[in-house]
Order: sequence, then C-alpha cells, then structure tokens
Amino acid sequence: MPHHTPLIATIVGGLVLAFIFGTLAHRLRMPPLVGYLIAGIAIGPFTPGFVGDADLAQELAEIGVILLMFGVGLHFSLKDLLSVKNIAIPGAVAQISIATLLGMGMAWALDWPMGEGFLFGLALSVASTVVLLTALQERRLVETKRGRIAVGWLIVEDIAMVLALVLIPALSGVLGGKGEALGTGALLTTLALTLGKVVAFVAVMLIVGRRVIPWILERIADTGSRELFRLAVLAIALGFALGSAYVFGVSFALGAFFAGMILSESELSHRAAEESLPLRDAFAVLFFVSVGMLFDPSILIRHPFLVLATLLIIVVGKSLAALFIVRAFGHPLSTALTISASLAQIGEFSFILATLGISLGLLSPTARDLILGCAILSILVNPLLFSLLDRLKPALEKRERALHPAVADSAPYTAEALHDHVVLVGYGRVGRHVGETLKAQGSQFVVIEDQVELVDSLRAAGINALYGNAVSAEVLQAANIAAARWLLVAIPGAFEAGQLIEHARASNPAIRVIARAHSEAEVEHLEKHGAAHAIMGEREIANGMLACVKSAAA
Ligand code: AMP
Repeated sequence: MPHHTPLIATIVGGLVLAFIFGTLAHRLRMPPLVGYLIAGIAIGPFTPGFVGDADLAQELAEIGVILLMFGVGLHFSLKDLLSVKNIAIPGAVAQISIATLLGMGMAWALDWPMGEGFLFGLALSVASTVVLLTALQERRLVETKRGRIAVGWLIVEDIAMVLALVLIPALSGVLGGKGEALGTGALLTTLALTLGKVVAFVAVMLIVGRRVIPWILERIADTGSRELFRLAVLAIALGFALGSAYVFGVSFALGAFFAGMILSESELSHRAAEESLPLRDAFAVLFFVSVGMLFDPSILIRHPFLVLATLLIIVVGKSLAALFIVRAFGHPLSTALTISASLAQIGEFSFILATLGISLGLLSPTARDLILGCAILSILVNPLLFSLLDRLKPALEKRERALHPAVADSAPYTAEALHDHVVLVGYGRVGRHVGETLKAQGSQFVVIEDQVELVDSLRAAGINALYGNAVSAEVLQAANIAAARWLLVAIPGAFEAGQLIEHARASNPAIRVIARAHSEAEVEHLEKHGAAHAIMGEREIANGMLACVKSAAA
C-alpha cells in the first residue's frame, strides 16, 4: 500500500465500482443509478471490504450538485424563472407544509416529541436536486414547461431550506432540543437577517454578477484559448457557488444556479459553456455513491413498518399533494404527474437536516436512520415511477386529446395508415429543413421528436408528429416503422442513433437508413449499425464552402 490517500481512494473506488455496478444494472435493464447506489453500499461502512470516506464522498457529491445546478441555470433565463413563480411558490410551500404535517402525524402516532416530528417531517419534504435533474435530463424535460415548473419549485424549496437551516438552531430550544429558547424578538431578527441576505444575494447577482460574469468570459474568449475558457467557466461555477455560500449564507446550489442563469443571458453562447462541464456527470455519479454509503441496511429489519410508513409519506403523500396543487392551477394531468414523480424523493437536504437534528439533540438516531434509509429507497423507486408514467402516457395523451379536440382534429396521431413513408427522427436544426422540403413535396412522412412543445407545434401545423425518444422500440412501432421505406436520423447523438437504427432494422430489414454524423468515427459507428449512408456535417460544410468558391469563380 502506498502512502495514505483517502481522497483518491474514495474517488477511484466510487467511480470504478459505480461503473461496474452501473453497467451491470444496465445489463439487467435497470437504470444505472441503481448500480451507483449499490456501489455506494458496497464501499459504505455497513458492508465488509474496502470502506471509503463518507465525509469526503459527501463533499465530492456537493461539487456534483454545484455543476448540475450551474448547468440548469445555463438553460434558464430570469424570464423563465419568473414565468413559473405563480405555481412554484405556492406549490412548494404547500407541499412542504403537507409533508411536514404528515411527518409530524407519524411522529405523534409514535409518541415522539413534537420538535422531532417537525424536523423529521421537514426532512421528508424536500426533494434532491441531483435526483430530480437526472430524471428530467434523462427524459429531456428540463426545457419543457413541466420541467421549468419542477426546477422553479426546486429553487423555492432550496430557499426554504436556507431559511430552515438558519432558523432551526435558533429555534432549537423551543422545539425541545439543546440550546436556550430565543425570544420572539431575537427570532424575528434572525429571520429578517437571513431573508435580507437571500435578497441581497439575488440583487448582487443580478446587478453586479450580470456585468462581471459576462465581462470576464468575454475577455477570456478574446484570448482564444479554449483551455482558459473552460477553466474560466469552471472557476465561475465553483467560485460563485462557494462565494455566495460564505458571504450570503445561501446554498451552493443556489449560487451556482444564479451564476449559470446570468451566463445564459449574455451574448456568449452557452453551448460553449456547456461543453466545459464534462466533470458534471462524474460528480453526479459520486453523489449517488455517497448516498449509498450512508445506508445502513439493518434499519429494514429493525423497523420495517416505520420504513414503509416513511416511504409512503415521501412517495405517495408528497406526490398526491403536488398533484392536487398542480391540477388546482389548471395544468394538465400529465404535467401534474411528471412534477409529482420528480419530487417524490428525498436526498441531500434531508441528510443535512438529519445531521443538524442529531447535533442539536432534536432527532433520535432511529429517526435519522429512517430518513437515510428512505432516501435511498425513494431514489430507487423514482425511476419506477417515471417508467409507470411512460406506460400511462398513451392513455393520458388520449385523454388530453379528448379534452382539446381542436388539436386532435388538426392532425392524425397514428401512422398506422402510412405505407412506404419516411420516418424522420429529430426536428431540430437538421430535421426541420428535411421536414419542410418533404412537406412541400407532399411526401408521406412522420416525425419523431422528444420535445413536447415541438411536437405540439408540428401537430398544429398539420404535420404528423409523434412524441417520444426514438430509441424506444414502441415509439418506432407507433411510427409504423415496419411499413416505412426510409428512416432519416437527424439527431446529433451517434450512440442513440446507432441503437435506434438497430431497432428499426430489426423490425424492417429492408428500410433504407440515412443518418447524421459529426466525425469519421461516428460515420463508421452508424454504418456498422445499419445506416446505408451516414452524412458528416463537417464534410458537407466543406463542400458548401468549395461550391461557393467555385460559383464565384465561374
Ligand atoms: P439539432 O441538433 O438542432 O438538429 O436538434 C436535434 C433534435 O432532435 C432536437 O429537437 C431533439 O429534441 C431531437 N432528438 C434528439 N434525440 C432524440 C431522440 N432520441 N428521439 C427523438 N428526438 C430526439
């Protein structure tokens, strides 16, 4: 054994095991995050063998939270944030209250002290940023209306937690923990001070940050050094997160989110900034590993019924509350269900609250173990909720169609009647041009897109569009791939494209496939998976340039 290197051992152990178990999980047709959690349990203190450093793992996970929130901020403008405030603020507040009351109810039934019940309920009320964003990103929902509501909701929860973390120590005496009871005056001062800091933080970010951040990045972009540019982005994300946490007492996540949001409004393309976040995914994996490390499986045997009750509060109680609130605001059932599912879990904030509760003598070890145990269980159950939603989607779409007949009349949704048609996957910068020409020619075609809004507008324009990820065999079937003549794959991801081409050719070996590529390696990959032609964007650009030169010369 070389010298003592706990940080390296934890990072490497976490990533290597997460990779192994994640791959295994994928093989078994489970989401990879199940594998990451199991990797965490394997290097946690409750299982034999190598034990990683749980504290270090949690700090590393915080970097994941920062980068994720920065990334989300990049796709958010202040306008987006303000546009969802009417539902996000009352929604999050109502959901937190209901979940806290449910937790207190359970504590009351168990004869726990009132203060413990309060903290326990509060810990069950806040969703994990990483779990929510991973779920939304996987399904490309972040930039949809429902995704925006969920993220706005998360931001409100985040601010509520900032307040809770400051107020709970001050209230500890009143709640029956250690520490003297503060007078009402002192309490109000603390509250006002904390709120004032949050407001000051937002103001500083919007006034100073808005000028400084783009200014720094523009200077760096002028140097022409990609390395420096990437470093600048990373330094801004991490620096602002940490700086705002120290100066204003807000969470890392909030600081990072605002830094990202400000960047998204500047002239500089945020695509460039996004490219510089390859670290994000690795650290998000470490987040799941660190959650796994906290899990003590013996709680399942010691208190099976309490585990079940706690899990029900998180998964059912919170979801129903969110569902009713979103419905009450007049959003469609499918939106309400997506938001409920994304919030039906708990994570990092709950751990922080649990640790705080223990140190203040407010929480018993049993309550803490329940919170930790149910966090991992709720994260494990989360992908199941989403796949249940995917199953329900056809029925929901049908229902919503019945409720909005105008859209239903304007476009047929199934491609059953189509034969020898073209299936066009992706309606972005490439697919749009293909689709317009096909439409002008009067060709029979169906579009597969996984952005709901885009599908809606295509349908409104009378174009046959299906919503979903084309990698799924069912979505391809809905496009009647078996009877199609052409498959045009106009999406940028070559791995997804390869997989979907394979599925398509399995149900229709004669189909002619043309795919989009961005490098020689991608061309090879796509052709190996059955594309007759893989057209490389960069080469076509070169051809276009040469054609311009030629026509100017002629
Ligand atoms: P662009 O890169 O601008 O051509 O955009 C690509 C388009 O393809 C976007 O509108 C994406 O929503 C869409 N897209 C990407 N991957 C998939 C997929 N697996 N299934 C369906 N649509 C996709």
